[in-house]
Parts: sequence; C-alpha cells; structure tokens
Amino acid sequence: MKTLACREAGFDCGYIVTGETEEEIFQKGGEHATKDHGMKEEDITPEFKEKLRGLIRTAG
Ligand SMILES: [Zn+2]
Repeated sequence: MKTLACREAGFDCGYIVTGETEEEIFQKGGEHATKDHGMKEEDITPEFKEKLRGLIRTAG
C-alpha cells in the first residue's frame, strides 16, 4: 500500500491518494488534481511527477 498526501504536494487539502503501485498513485492523484485543483494534464510535468515520487510513502 502506497500513500501520497495531497498537502505535501503543495495543496491546502486533506486528501490522501492511496494505491498499490506508483502508477496507481499517479493515475488517481492526477484525476484528483485535475478535478479538485483545476490542474491541467500539461501541468503534470515529468518534473512535478518526480517531485511527487519522492513524497510517496509505502505502508504495510
Ligand atoms: Zn487535493
């Protein structure tokens, strides 16, 4: 189980993205960011993903 706190990505938001894999985290997190934070697909750059990758925690 992997988690990523939206707050740590720089948003004032209590949402926690969970997934079994990094890919799942990025997929769900991308949907959340575009739907709830008005981010566009093109805002999710390789640099941003690289930053997020470092914030993913593995639990369990
Ligand atoms: Zn959020």
